[in-house]
Amino acid sequence: MSTDCIFCKIVTNDIPSNKFYEDDEVIVFHDIRPIAPVHFLIVPKLHVESLADCDETHQNLLGKMLLLAPKLATQLGLKGFRTMINTGREGGQEVFHIHIHVFGGGETLPKT
Ligand code: 5GP
Ligand code: ZN
Repeated sequence: MSTDCIFCKIVTNDIPSNKFYEDDEVIVFHDIRPIAPVHFLIVPKLHVESLADCDETHQNLLGKMLLLAPKLATQLGLKGFRTMINTGREGGQEVFHIHIHVFGGGETLPKT
């Protein structure tokens, strides 16, 4: 838990979110600024800043997060989706609590 982290505050319900999945290790909620008709974020309850801060101790958690993507995408009616993990400022990361973006729906996504 990091006191000034927006996703930690979402985990503890101090900031509301449109959460639709939760278990003991992970929460999943819709992105507040979606870039596709469906756009959600898979977020661990554990505060880890980014993928670059992960090591072998996070292997099971990362695997669990990744495997949630197709399950939840299917539940939301997506036939395909894109996953994205922005890492570090130069990687476009804005919220420094690791998360996987999952988005799709509507038109076929562009190649890049
Ligand atoms: P990043 O650029 O760090 O990979 O992505 C952070 C994402 O979190 C952005 O897509 C942004 O729209 C989303 N986001 C930031 N603050 C909030 C919030 O308070 N609630 C929700 N639901 N999403 C947020
Ligand atoms: Zn955090």
